[in-house]
Amino acid sequence: MENAYAKIIERLGEDLEREGLKDTPKRAAKAMQFLTRGYQQSLEEVVNGALFPSDNSEMVLVKNIELYSMCEHHLLPFIGKAHVAYIPNGQVVGLSKIARIVDMFARRLQIQENMTKQIAEAIQEVTGAQGVGVVIEAKHMCMMMRGVEKQNGEMKTSMMLGTFRSNPATRNEFLSLVN
Ligand SMILES: [Zn+2]
Repeated sequence: MENAYAKIIERLGEDLEREGLKDTPKRAAKAMQFLTRGYQQSLEEVVNGALFPSDNSEMVLVKNIELYSMCEHHLLPFIGKAHVAYIPNGQVVGLSKIARIVDMFARRLQIQENMTKQIAEAIQEVTGAQGVGVVIEAKHMCMMMRGVEKQNGEMKTSMMLGTFRSNPATRNEFLSLVN
């Protein structure tokens, strides 16, 4: 990966020997590895057994989970927030685990639509919930810095599973808590 970055910098017409760029291929490779570390994680490892019995069947909502991802079309960042809710079915998952599940899918090459679905399905799989709702809002550098250069273009995606899909009251409660 380091060699590949060196080639890219050379192709830009830059001088790889100059002070500021000398270690850039190494640093860039390390940064890219970090930004895509989700590939090295699994759901089991991230959740690490943090499931607890509960007779609560009210909505559990975690709002404003920071999210840093990389668009798979341009390898540019998209940055935003995830809101995740579920209705427990006999057990709840540790709250920090929800943020870690979001991170595991965000830290890959992604498109926002697929990521939203993957997060919802993972929460469903882990918790066995009656339903799961995920809303993600993000700003895409590939839209803001290139192409149309729309500085305020924010993309919103959602995925509803189980009762969030079948019951309009549940879905509306979730959406009104998020907005
Ligand atoms: Zn893009």
